[in-house]
Amino acid sequence: MQKKVTIIGGGIIGLSTAYFLQKEGCEVTIVDCSNMNSGASYSNAGYVCPSHFIPLAAPGVVRSGLRWMLDASSPLYIKPNLNRDFLKWAWAFNKSANSRLVQKNAIHLRDFTIFSQELFQTIKKEEQFSFQYDKKGLLMLCQTDRQLEKELEILTLANSLNVHAKEISKAELKIMEPSIEINGLGGVYFKNDHHSTPSDFMQQLKAYLKSKGVHMFANERVLDFNMKQGKIDSVVTDKQTLHSDEFVMASGSWSADLCKKIGLKLLLQAGKGYSMQTEYKTGISIPTILAEAKVAVSPMDGFTRFAGTMEIAGVNHNINRKRVGVIAKAVHQYYPSIKLSTSEIEAVTCGLRPLSPDGLPYIGKPQSCENMTIASGHAMLGWTLGPGTGKLVSELILNKKSSLDISPYHPNRRF
Ligand SMILES: Cc1cc2nc3c(=O)[nH]c(=O)nc-3n(C[C@H](O)[C@H](O)[C@H](O)COP(=O)(O)OP(=O)(O)OC[C@H]3O[C@@H](n4cnc5c(N)ncnc54)[C@H](O)[C@@H]3O)c2cc1C
Repeated sequence: MQKKVTIIGGGIIGLSTAYFLQKEGCEVTIVDCSNMNSGASYSNAGYVCPSHFIPLAAPGVVRSGLRWMLDASSPLYIKPNLNRDFLKWAWAFNKSANSRLVQKNAIHLRDFTIFSQELFQTIKKEEQFSFQYDKKGLLMLCQTDRQLEKELEILTLANSLNVHAKEISKAELKIMEPSIEINGLGGVYFKNDHHSTPSDFMQQLKAYLKSKGVHMFANERVLDFNMKQGKIDSVVTDKQTLHSDEFVMASGSWSADLCKKIGLKLLLQAGKGYSMQTEYKTGISIPTILAEAKVAVSPMDGFTRFAGTMEIAGVNHNINRKRVGVIAKAVHQYYPSIKLSTSEIEAVTCGLRPLSPDGLPYIGKPQSCENMTIASGHAMLGWTLGPGTGKLVSELILNKKSSLDISPYHPNRRF
């Protein structure tokens, strides 16, 4: 028997970590305070996307963010807040939003996303897995010349990084999507992006892990840690005390508060996003981002999903109906034949993206605790980076050679 490992959090990061540790013969336990059926890992757009190598903290975003603070319908909303943790995060976010750092981190994110894409495909080949995983690329759809210009700048950067992108004309849009009327003037197409249906993969992964003897405790909250000589001896939940050799912090947007208990100050804010779906046959076949509105459209298994907004307003699942309405309106503006019904809009769900200031996840062992591995802060790329993170964390815990250089992701990195 390899090590005994307890993972805090059963989202995509926690489950993927359990998958690779179990394969290595570890005895794995997952504890999650939710029903393990909702949240970011279920409501996301399902993109497995090397095209997203530019983080939220991109040059210019701070200026837009300040402007958008006053606009309840903007795609990015930052709630003004005097909380110390938020101010420190905002300071680091502002520092990270420079083109030198963004270009440097783009290389890390490119390599990490491609690594994780390959692992998704390896998992898919296993007998117990049949989740939707399509390789149809990603279209950035524009309605204005101004937006198209911005996307073309990203296209140039993408091609310099070998993330293949090409410009699409209005006529080509019609050829790419013959079954739906599109109100757009063109865009940029990333041919190497993939997509999947999140709930399919999550359900199958949970069933797989259970069949392999992974212990799963849902609706159970980790409250504290018992420490012994600089190491964690056990975690205390609201129901029991769990002893292990190693622990993994995969609790997404909730990780910062838990990390304080082991002496680690993790800069992290929750970025809320909403998603809605329709079973109506939309005719959309290619995952598409409505570029001005920043709404992600995904043709999933049996439905089309629309996801959007980045609301930095604390760790909560409150629904802002005004923003939800803005997403639904944007969908109709780009696809005149789609009008989401009242019941589809009311069935909206939300999830919290765990945002680090620089858009890179936190992966590694903090200086303050040698048997805890942090695996949080994956921001807009948590779905994409799930399997890759799981593999890297398993290698770290088992002292194996790392498949990628994980030093850029260290949880004690300075901003
Ligand atoms: C609308 C939307 C669209 C998105 N689209 C994409 C996309 O297309 N592609 C992409 O790559 N990413 C996307 N993302 C981002 C991605 O979904 C997230 O980065 C990812 O799901 C985070 O996974 P996680 O496992 O770290 O966190 P979570 O899924 O939030 O899981 C953390 C878990 O920890 C549990 N937990 C918290 N505190 C405790 C505690 N004290 N004790 C026990 N358990 C605890 C929670 O209950 C939760 O289940 C999107 C996100 C949103 C919201």
